[in-house]
Amino acid sequence: MDAIRDTYDRVIDYLRISITDRCNLRCVYCMPSQGVRHLRHAGILSYEEIIRIVRVAALLGVRKVRITGGEPLIRRNLGYLIADLRSIPGIEDISLTTNGQLLDKYADELAAAGLTRVNVSVDSLQNDRYAEITRGGSLPVVFAGIQRATLLGLTPVKINMVPMRGINDDEIEAFARLTLETRYDVRFIEFMPAGANDFWTADRVVSTQEIMERVGRIAPIDPIKRRKDGPARYYSFAGAPGVLGFISPISHHFCGSCNRLRLTSDGKLRPCLFSETEIDLKSAMRRHVPDEEIARLLRLAVEVKPQAHSFADRPDADKRRPMSAIGG
Ligand code: SAM
Ligand code: SF4
Repeated sequence: MDAIRDTYDRVIDYLRISITDRCNLRCVYCMPSQGVRHLRHAGILSYEEIIRIVRVAALLGVRKVRITGGEPLIRRNLGYLIADLRSIPGIEDISLTTNGQLLDKYADELAAAGLTRVNVSVDSLQNDRYAEITRGGSLPVVFAGIQRATLLGLTPVKINMVPMRGINDDEIEAFARLTLETRYDVRFIEFMPAGANDFWTADRVVSTQEIMERVGRIAPIDPIKRRKDGPARYYSFAGAPGVLGFISPISHHFCGSCNRLRLTSDGKLRPCLFSETEIDLKSAMRRHVPDEEIARLLRLAVEVKPQAHSFADRPDADKRRPMSAIGG
C-alpha cells in the first residue's frame, strides 16, 4: 500500500496516540496545580478500539505509532497494547513519550512486548528544580529509567526539554553537553501556549534561534542530514556520541515536515496539534461502523490537515484542551 499524502504533498505515516488524559505529575507548563478535569473511564478509547484504528491506519500507510498521554505508563497493561500493535502488519516502529517516573519499573516489560524507543521529558538536571517544575517528580528515578531503557536498546533515548526563560533556560548548555558524553538525543522544544493553564507568557519563550546560538557557543554544531524525523531538525557537535534536536512550533520550522495525525484519549482525530478540527472516531466506532468508514474518516483527517498553524492569529492558542489531553 502506497503512503497517504496530504493536500501539501506531505507523507502521513505517523499516528500519535494519547492513551490517557491522566498524569502522575503536574508540570507547570502543562497543567494547573490542581490538575484538570478528567474524562470518565468510558470516555477513553479501549485498547481494542485503539488497535482497530491502528489496523485500519496501517492499511492506509501509517508505519509509526507513538504512545503518549497524559502519562501513558499509568495506564494498566500497556505491554498488552504494545504487543498487539506490534503484530499489526505494516507497523514498523512503536515509540513512547513518558515523564519517566515509572520507566525503570516497566521498561523490561515494554521492551519485551516490542517497544522500539522512548522519549523522556526532563526539564531540569537539578533535583530540586526538577521537583518544582514537575510539582513532585523525582529526577534520580527518571535517570534510573533512562539508563534501563538504554541498556534494553530502546534507543536512541530522546530527552525532551522545554526551555522557559527565568525558569530553566540557564540549563540549556548543561543539557547540550549531555550529548558530548552520552548517546542520547537531547531535543529542545519551544514553549508553546497550549493547555488549560496560565503559565505561558511570550517572554518565557526561548526561541530555537537563541537556543542554537547558546549551544553553538560551547562548540560549533553541524546539521545531520540523514535524520528525517518529522518536525525536529538535528545537529551535533563534531565527534559527539549524542545528537541535538530542535523543535520549533513557535518560530515555525515545523509544519512543512509534519508527517503525523493525532488521536486524543477520547477518540478524536486531530489533523494538527493546534487545529480546532477534530474528527470523532470513537462515536463512529461505538455506532459499529465498518472498517471502510474508519478509513474514510482517517483520509478525511489527512485531507483537512492544514498547511501550517499560526500563533500570530491566536496568541493564546488552544485553551480548550490541556496538552495532557491532546498528547503533546
Ligand atoms: N507525560 C508524558 C511526558 O511528559 O513526556 C507525555 C505527554 S506530554 C503532554 C508530551 C510532551 O509535551 C512532553 O515532552 C512535554 O514536555 C511537552 N509539552 C507539554 N506542554 C508543553 C508546552 N506548553 N510547550 C511545549 N511542550 C510541551
Ligand atoms: Fe504530565 Fe507530561 Fe504534562 Fe508533565 S508534561 S504534566 S508529565 S502530561
